[in-house]
Amino acid sequence: MVTTKAKTKEYIDRDKACVNQVLSRLAPVVAERGEGSYLYDVDGNKYLDMTTGIGVTNIGHCHPRVVEAVREQAGELIHTSVTTYHRKYIETCEKLQEISPGRLDSVFLANSGAECVEGAIKLAKYVTNRPGIINFLGSFHGRTHMCMALTTSKLYYKDMMEPLPPAIYTAPFPYVFRSMTPDNPEAVVDETFRQLDVLFNQFINPKQVAAFIVEPILGEGGYVVPPDSFLPRLRALADKHGIMLIIDEVQSGFGRTGKMFAIEHLDVEADIMTMAKGIADGMPLSAFVSRKELTDKWPAGRHGTTFGGNPVACAAALASIAVIEEENLAERATKLGEEMMTALRKLAESRPHIGEVRGRGLMIGLEFCDKDGKPSKEWTDKVVARCLENNMLILSCGQAGQVVRLIPPLTLSDSEAEKALEILEIATRD
Ligand code: PLP
Repeated sequence: MVTTKAKTKEYIDRDKACVNQVLSRLAPVVAERGEGSYLYDVDGNKYLDMTTGIGVTNIGHCHPRVVEAVREQAGELIHTSVTTYHRKYIETCEKLQEISPGRLDSVFLANSGAECVEGAIKLAKYVTNRPGIINFLGSFHGRTHMCMALTTSKLYYKDMMEPLPPAIYTAPFPYVFRSMTPDNPEAVVDETFRQLDVLFNQFINPKQVAAFIVEPILGEGGYVVPPDSFLPRLRALADKHGIMLIIDEVQSGFGRTGKMFAIEHLDVEADIMTMAKGIADGMPLSAFVSRKELTDKWPAGRHGTTFGGNPVACAAALASIAVIEEENLAERATKLGEEMMTALRKLAESRPHIGEVRGRGLMIGLEFCDKDGKPSKEWTDKVVARCLENNMLILSCGQAGQVVRLIPPLTLSDSEAEKALEILEIATRD
């Protein structure tokens, strides 16, 4: 149990006095140190971290190989930007080229998820010379103006921010559990494509659409896994009209779902793929990858960045990806994810307020419902608070905040997974 909180209170008071309070913090914990699956606060309390800083520290906090790579690189070269080439930038791009599925062989390094989404959209617009973008309901792509415009997981993120970039049209994401036909997933996918037909017939000519942008699994929108037929059908529709398919793997990449990238579960190729979060175990780095045949049409200097591909972040990425590969952490995510979801589905049998347990690998969502089956934020909030009382950090997501998401490190041990399940058993009691 959490004991003292004296220093925590002091720091939170100081935070209030100096930090722009638009930055919401999800738990009243002042972290001091991280190691593996645990965070330690300034009062010495220890927390099992099932958030990994929102899906970032995929190989655990302060993995020794990442720490070593960062230390070594920081002593050698911290920054040059585009004033010179540098070795770690090139090695990171070679590695991303190697692990990116399909024919994606041209890499641009940036700093954050939003920044790589911006780059992907700019590339798609430039190479197609078309203005329109189609996104999907429940999506989250970031906080910049373009990314806000593309985000539909909650109005809250873009309320009062109009005008936003125009020519964005939204189609329904096949969210089977909350659909009109929850027992017929294919009918839900059919409905998405019927609505895309409506868009193309009544809102925008498909020849004016540069790109579809889609998350392979909705992240912030509720950890929603679409039926397997959705993305192949979207790929076919994109091909029919010469539309770029942008797959946003910012949250689902780097072993999280049981493959290096979630799209690899399906026989689908992206034209452009975005990645960030789990790329460098916590160092700020992101990338968008595409095909050289496309990026060669984009003249040098049309896009750029000062900090993107910083040598220290690249060194961390190379170390982190090596650990994911050498320790077979994607397979570990599949195995542990299946075990945890099986246990959670069993738990849900005695918890009528857990409407669905879903996910892929270690991207696991529990959707909470009220007595009428409606989305219940009340339940989610209660579970998050009870987990915190039991020294475990979890996050919520979903349009109404009705989903608990579990995003542990892929290095979570069997006993840590058991401990997490025990805490969830307590936290979900009526
Ligand atoms: N895309 C997806 C799928 C995300 O989940 C996020 C962040 O949660 C982003 C983009 C934006 O990333 P960032 O917060 O690093 O800008």
